Amino acid sequence: MKRFEDKVVLITGGASGLGYASALQVAKEGAKLSLVDLNGEALEKAKNDILAEVPDAEILTITADVADEEAVKNYVKETVSAYKKIDSFFNNAGIEGKQNETENYGSDEFEKVVAINLNGVFYGMKHVLKVMKEQEHGSVVNTASVGGIRGVGNQSGYSASKHGVVGLTRNSGVEYGQYGVSIKAIAPGAIMTPMVEGSLKQMGGDDWEAAGEEFVKANPMKRFGKPEEIGYLVAFLLSDQAGFINAAVIPIDGGQSYKY
Ligand code: NAD
Repeated sequence: MKRFEDKVVLITGGASGLGYASALQVAKEGAKLSLVDLNGEALEKAKNDILAEVPDAEILTITADVADEEAVKNYVKETVSAYKKIDSFFNNAGIEGKQNETENYGSDEFEKVVAINLNGVFYGMKHVLKVMKEQEHGSVVNTASVGGIRGVGNQSGYSASKHGVVGLTRNSGVEYGQYGVSIKAIAPGAIMTPMVEGSLKQMGGDDWEAAGEEFVKANPMKRFGKPEEIGYLVAFLLSDQAGFINAAVIPIDGGQSYKY
């Protein structure tokens, strides 16, 4: 199936984890990619890894901090000047932040997590939606989290930012449907990426793999999700096939967020 022939897909946090897996999936289906990440070195590696699997892929890489609105304006401008349009946008870059109870959650940490996870998603939507409104079509997928629809604990900044992403998705989805633009969010559970490895290390230290085994016992599927499983969902949501899914938040967590 080649759902992205002649389509331009912009992805933030494209150098690793969920962003990379989604980039690879849409590249396999013909997408022209614009990959944004703070880590320029990882971005070049991601580009080479995709080219190793999809040799004729067109890939623009842009090193940028999504928490900086000027940098966001610039990644949108560079993408449009290279490809003339943006069909699909995976607004995904994010961090977890240091875990701690609310009273001990650092205020600097809170601001940092919110700046990247929430402001970054807002800036991305603000500047990409302008382009999509003019071209009268487009799809946006924002990365929320189960931490954006449920209480997880020890994650004030993460929780506030991801609940905020859900709010932005619903608000803008209601605004932009009339212009042929759909906006949705995904709410992943624990998917094994460098971010989740870091999270388990915060919980279990050197024994993080044992902490991981303990962690997944609560999941109905008894396992972590795989990045490629996110890639399949995101590719569908970014494609024209999902054009009538709007302002919706889709959990992908093995059923854990529905468990009593
Ligand atoms: P990851 O650490 O593997 O990848 C995140 C990427 O974002 C990295 O390449 C990093 O360099 C980049 N990034 C970080 N800060 C940035 C910034 N300020 N500007 C630009 N790029 C930046 O993590 P992941 O697990 O793939 O997470 C991706 C998204 O998915 C995040 O928003 C995260 O909160 C969300 N999420 C992940 C999980 C999970 O279990 N892995 C679950 C729910 C939600």
